[in-house]
Amino acid sequence: MPSFSSQTVPDDALPEGIANPLSVTCDEFAANCAASGVLSDFHARNAYRGLYREGVTEHAAFTVPTAPIVNELRSESNEGEVIKIVTRVDRPSDGPLARDARVEHLDIESVVIPMIGRKKRLTYTLCVSSQVGCAMGCGFCETAQMGLVRSLTPAEIVGQWFAARHVLGREIRNIVFMGMGEPLDNLGAVQQAIRVLTDHNGPAQASSRITVSTVGRIDALIGLGEFVRQRGLQRLGLAVSLNAPNDEVRSSIMPINRGMPMAELRDALLAFPRRSSSKLCIEYVLIPGVNDLPGHADELAEYLRPLHFHPTAGTPGCVVNVIPYNPRRDSPWPAPSEEQVEVFMSALLDRGLFVKRRQTKGRDMMGACGQLGSPNIRKRRYVDVTVGA
Ligand code: SAH
Repeated sequence: MPSFSSQTVPDDALPEGIANPLSVTCDEFAANCAASGVLSDFHARNAYRGLYREGVTEHAAFTVPTAPIVNELRSESNEGEVIKIVTRVDRPSDGPLARDARVEHLDIESVVIPMIGRKKRLTYTLCVSSQVGCAMGCGFCETAQMGLVRSLTPAEIVGQWFAARHVLGREIRNIVFMGMGEPLDNLGAVQQAIRVLTDHNGPAQASSRITVSTVGRIDALIGLGEFVRQRGLQRLGLAVSLNAPNDEVRSSIMPINRGMPMAELRDALLAFPRRSSSKLCIEYVLIPGVNDLPGHADELAEYLRPLHFHPTAGTPGCVVNVIPYNPRRDSPWPAPSEEQVEVFMSALLDRGLFVKRRQTKGRDMMGACGQLGSPNIRKRRYVDVTVGA
């Protein structure tokens, strides 16, 4: 178990004026090193590649500060071992947590999920966090119970990839922003992290293998739309947590919907740039008695109709990803039974939707969807949920 006194990353690991290579692209790092005279362009590029390809953090001129893994929880699934990793970062520099002597650091959770693909090949998906806690206040989500503690920096987001790839030693095929936090509430850092993750000299992750999942912050969706128009980013995946068939149900479980209702969300999604190869993912956390009532499948199908057919060649433009609800701590709702999941999924299929089921993995270690969060911070409830009006 983690000790509660250890430092996160040493502040003096990098010489003055040198950017952390986990927070910038190779070009940016090389330009920065050359300008400050610490390393030539050539050596800086070599150091950058060595960091991302071989995990080399020690150099004659500097040490790359990486957040330590302070805990690892493993759980078996039918496709292999799911690993929840906890890395440690600094507490916020202001606010109540900054003044609380008991809180010396914050823990971020990321999950490495094994998947056996169509060709029976084992690959890993990394689920990364974009914030510690979350301000969105969704009633079914564990992270929401903490409130927002602070947003992560690009280096802290990329650091989760580094820990999974080079400390744990897993080849990461897909990255999903589905861990703690609302990525569109931290858009600048998330975009910069994606630029680093897709850098050919860095992790070289294909943008088609990165998915950003959002509650549907409409304002920020416009910004993300501009971002994905850039070269090399056009296939970035977008997932939207719809979770409801109508505004009444959605507003009752997702406060964001009270200010940004479903019709406006759909308009924003229709305007979002899409490539024919990448389907919009509609996430639907199935909560028995809440969003699986008779008539809900009809309403959902009706709502999705304009999104369902892609502008080109009638390809399905969206896929509904049904996620069986994973009870959060003190949950008022149970998990759905197998039968409830099947009944709802076949109702959607009957209505012509393209439907997939998200396999539940890591529930026993609170590592499944919507179960990430630090109960020690939660109990104190320092930060109020702010969004929704
Ligand atoms: N804030 C982002 C990303 C984090 S949540 C978002 O809302 O999309 C990632 C996914 O897990 C979302 O689709 C969310 O709806 C789902 N989720 C949240 N709580 C859950 C729970 N208790 N059980 C199952 N899925 C959950």
